[in-house]
Amino acid sequence: MKLEKRHKMFQYVSDKKLLAFPVKECGEKFVSVKDLHPKIVSRKKKPREIKRWVVSSYGHLVRKTVAKKLIRIAEGLPLGMKLIVTDGYRPIEIQRRMFRGMMKVFKKKKKYRKLREDEIKEKVRKLCADPDSYTYHSTGGVVDVYLEKDGKAINIGTAKNTFDKRLGKEARKNRGILIRAMSKVGFVNYIHEWWHWCYGESLWASINKKRYAIYGSVHLKNLKKFL
Ligand SMILES: [Zn+2]
Repeated sequence: MKLEKRHKMFQYVSDKKLLAFPVKECGEKFVSVKDLHPKIVSRKKKPREIKRWVVSSYGHLVRKTVAKKLIRIAEGLPLGMKLIVTDGYRPIEIQRRMFRGMMKVFKKKKKYRKLREDEIKEKVRKLCADPDSYTYHSTGGVVDVYLEKDGKAINIGTAKNTFDKRLGKEARKNRGILIRAMSKVGFVNYIHEWWHWCYGESLWASINKKRYAIYGSVHLKNLKKFL
């Protein structure tokens, strides 16, 4: 699979490299994916592991070009299929609250009581991006997506890694539909999470060998300028 090879080449873009990547913020506005297209649905999702979850109420926002790309994807989807967007823009401020909340939950867990702070942090990091690392979703150029057919999520397997070797035939085929649709319009996948797709920000710029990213982090206090 050509796509697999292309993506695998880049799977180890380090967090440090992404944080240090040059950004020339183009100032492009944010738009909502709600009511963008009949085949695009904006739906919040919370991790199964956590009961009380700070859900970002900004997840329906994305950069204008990203929205246009989503429309192109929706138009090309097979009959009965819909693109579900679970998260777009997530400000660092919200990411920080999520991370803190999860740290609290994990510290209270009996099985983790003997762990040190940094050990718990490591566990949380597996489920929630560390706000002090590169925060993809704060750029507005990143979306978490999946596909539904006739109102039901298509079987895409449970493995997080996009090209996991253990995937069954059906899951592999269905992932192929998503991967082709997203790649065709220029999104780049974060290979450790099949649902996470980037455009314009540092991973995209790094993988496409651009000199700089065009979307930088937008803080909540500056969001007004982008609406
Ligand atoms: Zn994501």
